[in-house]
Amino acid sequence: MNEFELIEKYFNWGRGHAVDLSVGDDCAIIKVNPNTQMVTSVDTLIAGVHFPVNTSASDIAYKALAVNLSDLAAMGAIPKHFTLALTLPEINEPWLDEFSASLKQLSEEYSINLVGGDTTKGALSITINVMGEVEQGKALLRSSAQVGDLIFVSNTMGDPAYAWQQIQQGNVPSLFYLDRLNRPTPQVLLGQQLLGIANACIDISDGLEQDLSHILKHSNVGATINLADIPLSDEMITYIENTHDWCTVLAGGDDYELCFTVPVESLKDLEAVKNKTNIQLTQIGVVTKSGGLSRLGYFDQECKSYQHF
Ligand code: ADP
Ligand code: MG
Repeated sequence: MNEFELIEKYFNWGRGHAVDLSVGDDCAIIKVNPNTQMVTSVDTLIAGVHFPVNTSASDIAYKALAVNLSDLAAMGAIPKHFTLALTLPEINEPWLDEFSASLKQLSEEYSINLVGGDTTKGALSITINVMGEVEQGKALLRSSAQVGDLIFVSNTMGDPAYAWQQIQQGNVPSLFYLDRLNRPTPQVLLGQQLLGIANACIDISDGLEQDLSHILKHSNVGATINLADIPLSDEMITYIENTHDWCTVLAGGDDYELCFTVPVESLKDLEAVKNKTNIQLTQIGVVTKSGGLSRLGYFDQECKSYQHF
């Protein structure tokens, strides 16, 4: 099987909505809607850095698309199209079967079309570029948090970092934690629901504190968060009681949950979102005038978030 047969067999799924030309030519051609803005982002996953080396092809494909969908979610965008740059050490058909099936399944779940890509030989790496759409001027940004806003996060914090730590130590995490690490749920619907309600939003990929700090810096504000309010899963509560290691929660990363700020007058609307989506949304702090990010609670160690360099 050569490169072109590989593309045809595993990554040419047909055209999808709003696509005039898909996989096969030099570029894809996509219709754009009036009064909307295209929102785009790219993320690369590298074996051993973004997923444990023995992760299944199915989980790798899922995560590669999910983390990109998470960026669209953070802007409140509707997913539309994506491209896939795939570097493979070899052509392994069972691996490709699994990878392609999983990618296709998630793409159908979120109605996002694969419209092109690139295929090369080398150490395993997966780069996905997503494109989405928002109504003109409506996207959720990092830069518009206001003093007095309440800070919220979706679901629980630290589970994927805890799972990763377990694997590193040679333990097998339970399915809940493995799924939190390998199959993060991109909060796409939540992001769209937050349009007009949240002032600022980010998806948590590198750790709660570092990512919240991005909002603070871009918005020129500070914040206080209360450790006791941070939503935790059962095993995490026990883990922290035993180790007092809050850094896994505050800086572990890979959560792919949304962190967003809401003005007090929109709290009623947020309550409606909560009821409609059934997603756990927890207030963890408040936006302050300045002074960076401060914590309330019995833990004052500085945590180091993941940085590539
Ligand atoms: P070019 O020579 O113009 O770079 P390629 O030979 O790399 O084009 O790719 C041929 C076609 O297949 C293009 O339309 C490209 O977008 C698509 N393609 C290549 N690799 C992938 C992939 N992994 N997934 C989806 N489409 C791909
Ligand atoms: Mg090419």
